[in-house]
Parts: sequence; C-alpha cells; structure tokens
Amino acid sequence: MRGTRHPQRRSLLQAAADSVEAAGERFRQSAREGTLHDLDRSQFTVPGIEAGDVVRWAYENGMVNTTDGRAIYDQIMAAPADERCPLCGHGVVRTLDHFLPKRMFPALCVDPLNLVPACADCNHAKGEGMPSGAEATLLHPYLDRIDHDPWLEARIADHSLVRLDFFVSPPPAWDQVLIDRTRHHFALFKLARLFAVQANRTVSGIRRQLTDILDAGGKDIVRAYLSAEADTRLAHRLNGWEGVTYRTLARDDAFCSGSFTS
Ligand SMILES: [Zn+2]
Repeated sequence: MRGTRHPQRRSLLQAAADSVEAAGERFRQSAREGTLHDLDRSQFTVPGIEAGDVVRWAYENGMVNTTDGRAIYDQIMAAPADERCPLCGHGVVRTLDHFLPKRMFPALCVDPLNLVPACADCNHAKGEGMPSGAEATLLHPYLDRIDHDPWLEARIADHSLVRLDFFVSPPPAWDQVLIDRTRHHFALFKLARLFAVQANRTVSGIRRQLTDILDAGGKDIVRAYLSAEADTRLAHRLNGWEGVTYRTLARDDAFCSGSFTS
C-alpha cells in the first residue's frame, strides 16, 4: 500500500479517503445525537480493502511510522494540558486510544476525534468493546465537554483514616443520560478509588503543616488555609481531585478541628 503509482492503488486510496471522510462525519453527527451505541458498523468499513489491512496500513504505517503521520500522532498526544489523561484526569498520557474500536470501525482508525490520548491504566480499562446503550457510552473528552459544570464531590467517610469518598454530583441542568454516562465512566475507570488514594497521600503530606497551623492559630486558620489551597486548584481544574480534596477538607468541621492528627 506504500506507493501510489499503480492506478488501481491510487483509486483504491481515493475511495478509502472518501469513506474515511464520510465515516468521520457520521461519527461526529452520532456523537452529537447521543447515538454512538447504535452505529451501524457496516457503514464504517472501507470498500476494496480488508479491515485488517486498513488498520495495519493507515494507522501503523501511515500514521505512526511516517514523518507527517507521526507529527499528527504526536500533536494529538500532546494536546492535553499537563500531559494529563483526559479519561481519568490524573494519569500521564502514554498512548492514543481508539474511542470506537479500530477493529470494528476501520474507517475511523485515523480520525483525529476517534484518537483519544490516554494513560496506560485507562487504555487497559477501556478495552475494545462497544457501549451497550446510551447510558453506557463513555464520555468523549472533546465531544462531551462537561468540565465547565462542577460535578465532582467528596465527603470524609472515615475520620480515623481521613478516607475520602469521591462521587458524581450532577448539576441540575444535566439530563439523565448524561448523569448515567458520567457515573458509568466514573465506575469503569475506578475514579473513586484513584482519587481517594491521591487524596490520602495529600493529607499525609500536609499533616505536619496542618498540625503546626492548628497549634498556632486554631481551626479557623486551618480552614482558611485549606480554602485558599482549594481555590487555586479549582481555578485551574474545577473537577480535579486536588481542588475537590482541599474543598472537602476545608468544609469539614471535625477535620479542621484536628481529626487529621489521629
Ligand atoms: Zn487515565
């Protein structure tokens, strides 16, 4: 597939390019309508070329291993701020994941919107399956922009361990499907556990400092410190576990009064 001098190959490639473009349009339209789970896979093949060939050639040779293709690949990889995985909001981007599986949707294997930067854990957890329904469709980081609304909350579940429970707290304007999708996404990538571990490490790292602040100024000063730390982090990422952790600690009277010292 490398050369295009052969007229048949050239027309084959042209046909493939047309199918890829049409498939990309169908993908975007379906994502806007919330019907990705209903996509007809037969509309995402590439005429004249076996699906496996397209995957191998267009993605691996055309995109990953050529200078121009690699530049696009690297550009998509580098898109997330702080190299942060957009699926979990925490891990370091390591790979590009096909949002709709490349083996089922070969015509989308090089579509930039079907290539989502991901950390190794999310790439592994996501797998290659299809959503079973609208409510089980994962959130697409660029097509489902939910982060302008606050949706992540936490509470201290166990004061003796300062264990935080993170959960989805949907804004009133969200419809039920979006709520279900966010909860499904949250569960699939085990975000409650991931965030709780990070929150616990954060508390361990500031325990000595909080103790000093409490001894010197009392619980209101502890609260003021935690609130200020929350504000700067939430200004950066409204639904980041970092800001939500500090906000949760600041709002908890027992914590500010010294439960962290136990
Ligand atoms: Zn991730």
